[in-house]
Amino acid sequence: MRADAVVVGGGPAGAVAALELARRGAEVVLFERSGYGGLRMGETLPPAVNPLLRALGVWDRFVASGPVPSYQTASAWGGPEVAERSFVFSPHGHGWHTDRARFDRLLADAAAEAGADVRRGVAVRGVRRVPGGFAVDADAPARADLVVDATGRPARIARALGARRERLDRLVCVARVFALPPGTPPGDTFLEAVPDGWWYASPLPADRRLLARFADARFVAAAGLATAPGWAAALASTAKTRDLAAGTPIGPLRVVSAASHRLAPVSGPGWVAVGDAALAVDPLSSGGAAFAIESGRRAAAGSEAGYRAFVGSAAAEYRAVRREVYGWEARFAGNAFWRDRAEDRGLEVS
Ligand SMILES: Cc1cc2nc3c(=O)[nH]c(=O)nc-3n(C[C@H](O)[C@H](O)[C@H](O)COP(=O)(O)OP(=O)(O)OC[C@H]3O[C@@H](n4cnc5c(N)ncnc54)[C@H](O)[C@@H]3O)c2cc1C
Repeated sequence: MRADAVVVGGGPAGAVAALELARRGAEVVLFERSGYGGLRMGETLPPAVNPLLRALGVWDRFVASGPVPSYQTASAWGGPEVAERSFVFSPHGHGWHTDRARFDRLLADAAAEAGADVRRGVAVRGVRRVPGGFAVDADAPARADLVVDATGRPARIARALGARRERLDRLVCVARVFALPPGTPPGDTFLEAVPDGWWYASPLPADRRLLARFADARFVAAAGLATAPGWAAALASTAKTRDLAAGTPIGPLRVVSAASHRLAPVSGPGWVAVGDAALAVDPLSSGGAAFAIESGRRAAAGSEAGYRAFVGSAAAEYRAVRREVYGWEARFAGNAFWRDRAEDRGLEVS
């Protein structure tokens, strides 16, 4: 199989890159290892995503897919009182709580309709340079002039081609989904700061709710947070989030990396990294999906200097906001989790 471009990873960044490249007339193959069957994290979409979905031409099908409107977020952050932040003044309207697997599939479908060859259930094992481009090692092998790394946080392809991750932290998410009792109002996004991290609650479509504990990897291991009893005990010790644990748990705990990094560089001869592979942000910002979409769009536009400048300024802005928001929580400022973030300490390069 010979293509102008191969996109590895069919999350929002890869699907949008494939969609935009196909619309520009390129022959594109998108490899996605999953079939979009399981639960995917990243359900809250801020209002800023609305103009992006309209510009992509997928707005109507997105609204028809059944997302739950999100009108505000509430948080106990910086103090025990709950503060609410409404989207009523947002120029883009309200946000959404989506079924992320359905959302990602919708974008991949749009890429296929634009002409991209979308190969679901095919994992890319590796990519190597060959004369005139790249050879892609997969069950359906391909050759291409351009490779787009959209593999998410692992940035697997770009790192194999020599890029490195500048890591900010080792944040981990331990989450569980609950089926709500019939008639339970969906509620808002809710955040609660605790001494070694924070809790997050979000409505999901189909009368479900996600509850998640975020902490650094070392603490998760030491406190047994990745075990059902440890997680439940930590939830029971919260002041507010415990009241949201209504209904029946669905499936086991999910443990995923939520670590922040920036890739250096984000592009090289014949390759570019998009979405989380290029810049992975703290889920606290609910900004990851919007960045993924925008980065996929910009990478497909073809200006390497413009793309590098875009990611550079997004990374600088993210880092400043992260520092500020973690600095708001003075109650736990003596704790390494809060102090390292408020002082913007980074980690090693890997
Ligand atoms: C716990 C958690 C909660 C989050 N909450 C939010 C939120 O509420 N709102 C928000 O906007 N963002 C949130 N985010 C961030 C958001 O999910 C990501 O920023 C976004 O998914 C990035 O999109 P992406 O396409 O770059 O990567 P991903 O969504 O990670 O997609 C990568 C894709 O590549 C595929 N893949 C990987 N390797 C291969 C391979 N070798 N071959 C083929 N396919 C491969 C994967 O199957 C996957 O489909 C959250 C993140 C985490 C970890």
